[in-house]
Amino acid sequence: MSIPTSVLEDLLQAMPQLRPQIYFKSSLTALSHAMEDQILAGADRALVVACFQRERFYRQEAHRYRRIGTTTDQLYVLAAPETEFKSGSDVHETVAFEPSDGLANEWHLLVLAEQYACCLVCRESNSNGIADSELNGMDQARRFEGIWTFDRLVCTKVGELLLERVRIYRPELDAKIDRAFHTYNLGVKPDSDALGGFQNVDPGPFAQRLVTYLQAGQHKLLKTYRSIAAQERRERSINSITTAIRQSLNPADIFQVAVRELGQALDVCRCLIYRCKESDATATIDREYLGASVPSLAGQTWPLQDNPLFREVVEALAPVAVENALTDRRIANSKTLQTLMQEWQIGSWLMVPVLYKNQVVGMVELHQCGCDPRVWDAEELTLVDAIATQVGVALIQAEAYANLEGLNQQLEALDRTRSNLIAIAGHELRTPLSTIQVCLESLSSDPDMPAELRQVMLSTALDDAERMRTLVQDFLTLSRLESGRVEWNPEPLPLLECVELALSSIRTRANSSSHEVPEISTHLPDNLPLVRADGEWLVEVLSKLLDNACKFTPADGEVKVEAQLNRDRFIQVSISDTGRGIPSDRLEAVFDRFYQEEGALRRSTGGTGLGLAICRQIVHAWGGTIWATSEGKNQGSQFHFTIPTDASVSDSPSPSPKSTPKSRRGNRSSRGQRHQASGKRK
Ligand code: ADP
Repeated sequence: MSIPTSVLEDLLQAMPQLRPQIYFKSSLTALSHAMEDQILAGADRALVVACFQRERFYRQEAHRYRRIGTTTDQLYVLAAPETEFKSGSDVHETVAFEPSDGLANEWHLLVLAEQYACCLVCRESNSNGIADSELNGMDQARRFEGIWTFDRLVCTKVGELLLERVRIYRPELDAKIDRAFHTYNLGVKPDSDALGGFQNVDPGPFAQRLVTYLQAGQHKLLKTYRSIAAQERRERSINSITTAIRQSLNPADIFQVAVRELGQALDVCRCLIYRCKESDATATIDREYLGASVPSLAGQTWPLQDNPLFREVVEALAPVAVENALTDRRIANSKTLQTLMQEWQIGSWLMVPVLYKNQVVGMVELHQCGCDPRVWDAEELTLVDAIATQVGVALIQAEAYANLEGLNQQLEALDRTRSNLIAIAGHELRTPLSTIQVCLESLSSDPDMPAELRQVMLSTALDDAERMRTLVQDFLTLSRLESGRVEWNPEPLPLLECVELALSSIRTRANSSSHEVPEISTHLPDNLPLVRADGEWLVEVLSKLLDNACKFTPADGEVKVEAQLNRDRFIQVSISDTGRGIPSDRLEAVFDRFYQEEGALRRSTGGTGLGLAICRQIVHAWGGTIWATSEGKNQGSQFHFTIPTDASVSDSPSPSPKSTPKSRRGNRSSRGQRHQASGKRK
């Protein structure tokens, strides 16, 4: 059952002389409470009709109405049901109406007693606003228009209108309503003596109650305004800090902005932010804001593992607050905390974790220094927590960006490598290929070619085919190493055997070519421990370095292989030559892929520019380092690299080999303290 018409409208139509007024919800609440108290205080059995807009408003007052119900059998409560409110008869009559009913927008309270009469009949001015205003805490400011009066004539009319409505909703109450009409003289013109609101009743207590309720309403309003203002302040701080944080992708800047803004917003003596993980023993204080002249903690090492506050934060993944460090039980029980508190004058403490995916990635700490304890209120905690969340997000974003940058750089490097490869391939492969082609064409087109020339042609073609093979092989080797597709078989090996294998391959090549190589000598101490490496790859490194030393040193120069055990119990191998040397600013660059001092396209010495890059990959794979030194141009160069030793035999005075490296070139040579190789090489 839904009646769209308004009781207020009906009243104003029946009594056009009435002038409605505006009331705020807080005033109506005060008036209603004063009227209800009046019923409870009086001895009259009053007719009471209360119309609540919705069930929830009635619920707030239900206990009062149960009490009122015990004072009169003529109490009618009307509301639009929301959960369990329904029409029925209990301590009082309940009347449920549809939410679309005109009453859903109206607030009525009628009290008609013998000694006094009072009513308020109001309609919400902007019913659409209810939900919104309730949501943002402005419920008290809802506006109504209507009549509030002690006029018995008006009250009688209101009684008639409301009870007639009840009769429609609940026809079974017909007799009871008739009784009310009869008892309270409804439907008849009241006699002029009874027109006043309070007959023989002192209106003072009513007025006092009204004022008390109005004050309470005012207080509630003030509280609401205060909390709205605080919320606004908090949101403004969060916004400004978030904006500032988001302007940078540099974690250091993000921390700096966050500590400053947070420290200022909360007016603390010290605000810290540092990065840390749950398992860290200590942290270094990255960023700090000082709001007072207290000792600075920037750059200090901050204990975490034996810090009970940190452990508590990590376990709860939630903020931990200390209001008074002097009386706090956790601080009293921890030497670490006591030391920190005294050294850094911490009076009150707040630790809030910076979390990412439920993992601690950092910490925000606020310190209030001095003796006055500071109570960290819920709003401050919410603010710091919100900022810590923003810092976490910004940090992860910055890291993602840095990773992206790194990936970009890798991609660019890859792209450069590819271009280099194309350039190398363009030259390195095409040049020998065309030489081979020319040689073979000449051989096939000129069957009468002298035998000597024929031999030259053939060996040129073979040499160039070999150059191409080396380039392709080096490139494939480097690709395998870089992509981690190499299976390593480290084993204890005597270094000397590896050196000899490398030398023998050089010797073999030198013997088969016309290019003279310098004298090579080996100086290895007898008591060198076994190295732990993959022999095949160790021989590869030695061969490449020896090959370079010979390549860049004139035939009358010298090449030396030396080794010694260094302090880290690694063997350091050095291959030095007296050749053309390397400028000091190129000592690092020579290890880059395709680095060649003359440039790939103007090379005269052969080679691919990949040899040292391959050596670096191999040495790094066994945990060693490789580097070059040189006094400069024509002053010779030295290439050094380190290899781990085999711990089980490292102290043995005369190591016996456990295995022998297999040479990639298949040669083995005998042991020897000094070794010389010479020959021709192109
Ligand atoms: P390449 O095949 O060109 O020798 P590497 O990677 O082995 O390639 O060496 C890169 C560059 O480093 C050489 O082209 C040369 O300029 C320089 N380099 C290497 N070893 C020596 C050395 N012993 N003396 C002088 N320069 C060297």
